[in-house]
Amino acid sequence: PGAITHLLAIIERMNTVKHKILVLSGKGGVGKSTFSAQLSFALAEMDHQVGLLDIDICGPSIPKMLGLEGQDIHQSNLGWSPVYVESNLGVMSIGFMLPNPDDAVIWRGPRKNGLIKQFLKDVDWGEIDYLVVDAPPGTSDEHISIVQYLQIAGIDGAIIVTTPQQVSLIDVKKEINFCKKVGVPVLGVVENMSGLRQAFSDMKFVKPSEAGETDATEWALNYIKEKAPELLSVVACSEVFDSSKGGAEKMCQEMEVPFLGKVPMDPQLCKAAEEGRSCFTDQKCSASAPALKSIIKKL
Ligand code: ADP
Repeated sequence: PGAITHLLAIIERMNTVKHKILVLSGKGGVGKSTFSAQLSFALAEMDHQVGLLDIDICGPSIPKMLGLEGQDIHQSNLGWSPVYVESNLGVMSIGFMLPNPDDAVIWRGPRKNGLIKQFLKDVDWGEIDYLVVDAPPGTSDEHISIVQYLQIAGIDGAIIVTTPQQVSLIDVKKEINFCKKVGVPVLGVVENMSGLRQAFSDMKFVKPSEAGETDATEWALNYIKEKAPELLSVVACSEVFDSSKGGAEKMCQEMEVPFLGKVPMDPQLCKAAEEGRSCFTDQKCSASAPALKSIIKKL
């Protein structure tokens, strides 16, 4: 009976939310939270009432990406109140509950699931048009149960974010198969950090021995990000429109799911995210904002 009460409470709470969009990725670090944050900004800028729910509870980066670091959640008799960026953009994240933003949340499955259930049933979103859910990365059993909860809440579909690399694409296939199995429609796949990684994959890097097992492309990308971020845009621009290798697009054809588009590597997007800003109102995000906009239009 306890489980049924929970489910009924989730369904009732989600009744005031018109559309629920889940943002997934097979791996961490591919830009899933960045996409969730910018999607929420975009929908709010279109005058929709928007909620952003961050259940990526192992590394909650949403408060920072929305410029809400250090804010607290308040409780009322209607439930937990989201923290508002604007009157039409509310955010809920475990990040608001951590005493120290650097605390890694290393919780075991049942506790995580408990918190996610609570997020789904206790947040007072009010009447909103869109709820964007930033889900944890992965395809583990634990992850699967989370998606099932969301499905019970009546999800419209999932957007899957990936990078063009094969290692990420393999996990995306798993994610797509999983969505098909549990009946969550795949709204489409976004290829993020497109261009740069591809350009880098064509180069031969010699990693220092202390880099260990890290993939050479990954290592080089991180190295340049750290030492000379201004170089990123140069390499990115040269490859942005090169789709000859297929990457996610080809995989989407094989898997029969929509391909939504590519977002290039753009240090300015990274900066906007770091500073908790929308890229759409930032002239400098000229490489990434139009790409993101055209993806969002397709939804
Ligand atoms: P995930 O949620 O998949 O773990 P994040 O959204 O946290 O990944 O992104 C990881 C890092 O990459 C962040 O620092 C973010 O700002 C940066 N990033 C994401 N997408 C891009 C992009 N297209 N161009 C440049 N930096 C990006």
